[in-house]
Amino acid sequence: MTPLNDKKLFLLDLDGTLYLDRTPLPATLPFLRQIRERGGRYLFLTNNSSRSVDAYVDKLSAMGIPSSKEDFLTSTDALIAHLQSRPPYRLCYAFGTESFQEQLAQSGIPVTDRLEDGVDCLLAGFDTELTFQKLEDACILLNRGVDFIATNPDWVCPTWYGSVPDCGSVCEMLYRATGRKPQVIGKPQPEMALLAMKKWGFSKEDTLLVGDRLYTDIACGVNAGIDTAFVLSGEGTRDDLPDSEVQPTWIFDDVGALATALETGEALPPKEFLREENRNTGQTLRALKYFALTLLSLAGLMACSMVTVWLLAAAFQVSFAGGIWMTGVRVGFVAWLVLFLSFGLRQIWKKQKDNSDTV
Ligand SMILES: [Mg+2]
Repeated sequence: MTPLNDKKLFLLDLDGTLYLDRTPLPATLPFLRQIRERGGRYLFLTNNSSRSVDAYVDKLSAMGIPSSKEDFLTSTDALIAHLQSRPPYRLCYAFGTESFQEQLAQSGIPVTDRLEDGVDCLLAGFDTELTFQKLEDACILLNRGVDFIATNPDWVCPTWYGSVPDCGSVCEMLYRATGRKPQVIGKPQPEMALLAMKKWGFSKEDTLLVGDRLYTDIACGVNAGIDTAFVLSGEGTRDDLPDSEVQPTWIFDDVGALATALETGEALPPKEFLREENRNTGQTLRALKYFALTLLSLAGLMACSMVTVWLLAAAFQVSFAGGIWMTGVRVGFVAWLVLFLSFGLRQIWKKQKDNSDTV
């Protein structure tokens, strides 16, 4: 594990890490600025293969986050790198959006969106333009035994109204129909992180992957052998940690907390983070207990005073201005106040004595 403030390349997940749907998180811009000012480099890593990089640049720009095409690495990029590193296919059926098909074609991958002779590979992406015709074509090809590669295993993609089926769900549907499972390229496989380090010339020790999902983002970092930061600003929660096989190197509430840790160098691994959380919860419970005891002591003293005043009034035939019960309440409150102040002053005196003894 390399110290956090020695990191130079930051591989950043997008939704849930830097923004939620179309709203940037408050700490996003200062965090990105801080990385640049430290001489570091960041790269946005996304499993979403339905959009082109140009569309992402526009999306981030609309949120006030400046970026250029070079700042992105998508699962389509990783798929292209994978296809270029192996013996070429004759013809690939591109099961995805028009943008997905264009990116593949522009990179020299022979693609089609029709059921043609000679297709020897099915490439599946997150298809927001899915039709039943495409599903039928995919089933025919898979039953013929062509290779099957998918960009990402995500079950769902978050939207402003909830979630929609992502590439993983559609591949599961094809698996139920044909019994064929794809080779997956995007996160949690290490390809994207390895490609990013190769592209920008950074070592594993220099690199930190930041994300809000344990089973894709953090798993990708773990599989690539790099340190990871799990942020709690998106899908993942602290409750995911105890049962997860995948554990991050560090954990933060959001990128704002990560930015602070980059300055101070103080970062907590999951176990210590959870212990700290438990300690804070314990402090809150203790405060609630003392508050309840205070109220109880007040009520007790008032009750005792009211009974005492009533007994005195009965025994000595004394009458009190304002009535017996109100006099009891007043006496009880004054007695409680005197005791409360005495106890408080005693505690302060004791603490000061302890401090002077320690010195
Ligand atoms: Mg995310």
